[in-house]
Amino acid sequence: MVSSLEPRARSGPTGARQVAAAAPPRAGGLAPFALTALAAWVSMLFGTRVSGSEYAASLALLALSWTGVATVNDERHGQCRTVAGALAFLAALGLARNATGGTAAAVSVVALLPVLYIALHVRDRRGLWLVLAGLAAFYLVPLLLIGGRGYPASDYRTALLMAAISAIAGLVTHGLVGDVRARAEQAQRRELMLARVSETIPELYLSADPRHEACLAVRDITQAQGVGLYEPDATGSRLIMTRTTGTPDTVAAGLPARVGSAADTAMRTRHPQLIRDNLAEHVGNVELWRADGCPASVLYQPLLKGDEAVGVLVVSWSDRATMTGPRVAVAALLAHEIAAVIDRVDVIDRLTDEALTDPLTGLANRRAWDVALDDALAEGHRPVTVAIMDLDHFKAFNDRRGHPAGDDLLRATAAAWRAQLRAGDLLARIGGEEFGLLLSSRDASGARGLVARLMAAVPSGQTCSVGLATSVPGDAPQQLLERADAALYDAKASGRNRVVLAQLEVAADGPNARRRA
Ligand code: GH3
Ligand code: MG
Ligand code: MG
Repeated sequence: MVSSLEPRARSGPTGARQVAAAAPPRAGGLAPFALTALAAWVSMLFGTRVSGSEYAASLALLALSWTGVATVNDERHGQCRTVAGALAFLAALGLARNATGGTAAAVSVVALLPVLYIALHVRDRRGLWLVLAGLAAFYLVPLLLIGGRGYPASDYRTALLMAAISAIAGLVTHGLVGDVRARAEQAQRRELMLARVSETIPELYLSADPRHEACLAVRDITQAQGVGLYEPDATGSRLIMTRTTGTPDTVAAGLPARVGSAADTAMRTRHPQLIRDNLAEHVGNVELWRADGCPASVLYQPLLKGDEAVGVLVVSWSDRATMTGPRVAVAALLAHEIAAVIDRVDVIDRLTDEALTDPLTGLANRRAWDVALDDALAEGHRPVTVAIMDLDHFKAFNDRRGHPAGDDLLRATAAAWRAQLRAGDLLARIGGEEFGLLLSSRDASGARGLVARLMAAVPSGQTCSVGLATSVPGDAPQQLLERADAALYDAKASGRNRVVLAQLEVAADGPNARRRA
């Protein structure tokens, strides 16, 4: 079954306030119970003949019961001791009643106190049943074992009715309190999750990979088995998995979502889809779902930017018990925030790309070149070779063929050269018809070979001249560029369409030897 969940309102501080308001009402302290018991014991001293020793024993048992009942807040041992205390209270009341003339003392109704107290404070229903059994014994044992004037047979009726009324009062109270307690705990968990959401979001903006970090955060906060992100591919025609936590990125990245799947529906309708039955028919990608260990329920939550869906957050839970309402709601809330983070980060990436890219050729621009050269030299552990490559007689080409044709030649040259490069080579347009080549992973002969191929690849029968220089330890970027420029000048001066390697200085001084053209 796939259920479409209406988008939920974003919970801000108001949501947090509502959660706080849902905190449980205080379930009555000990004082009213203690005062009522005290009143009962004191009242028994008046108007009847009291058996002193039995009454004293009842007081001792009452004190003992108090030590058990008062441990109610001790989560680990409290429940057993509280039940034992309640049973001791019933025994103490039985003794006191016997000491003051049996049922004629008219204190039997006080036996309802431990039933109510246990119903309010003890989570385990078995504790309540034990106390109800104790209450039945409190009424029936004296009738069966003692009888006579103190416990006439007519009291059976009262005993049965009191046991029934106490059972109803105890069980109903226990049920209501359990309900309130469960809601309060759910609210607390939700409040905790919201607190973690508000801690997490600012961190995502600082992350190097906010998509992956967001998936990890959703998984941790919602106790999910796996989290993934579907985003439209470059053509915008289909959804592909761009990040996951459940399976290694290398396996999952790029897997498409089936057309007509819940992922696809969530993207199209902009409404969340929660799948709990027949998952294989509905999940975005069956292989991925199987690789994740066939989770029992999957939420497809659209990432909305205004009215537009920009992706789908996939959250899967291993079983239905872990997929709680609050977790689904928090996943939805996180999806809103993640959409905003991704949008911001993508805008910044695009602006950064634009700031570092030459718009005519798509190559790195002068700014990117300077940064890359600084970085390469700062690493310092191997020589860096730079080539400055300048088209020959480009002005004349422009004059002959027109400026737009000159632009075309620049673009075509960049494309032809780019095709010759490998990862680790940086080609930049650093001036009008001047290109820089930064080679940090090739030796001198590799660099010369590449430059020769680039010179041969200049389109439209044009040529270029190249100045080549390799760094020596301690070189600053400016020094290296000056030597390459001087070599380029020599190449131009000596007839163009050639490469000149910057020469070593004659007065070399050890490792700090300088080269010059
Ligand atoms: P040399 O062989 O000595 O390098 O001669 P050159 O003509 O290539 O060099 P020069 O510095 O004399 O002229 C460079 C020309 O490049 C002048 C300028 O109009 C042209 N140019 C610079 N940027 C662009 C551009 O973006 N598009 C076009 N079409 N031409 C450009
Ligand atoms: Mg030129
Ligand atoms: Mg030039």
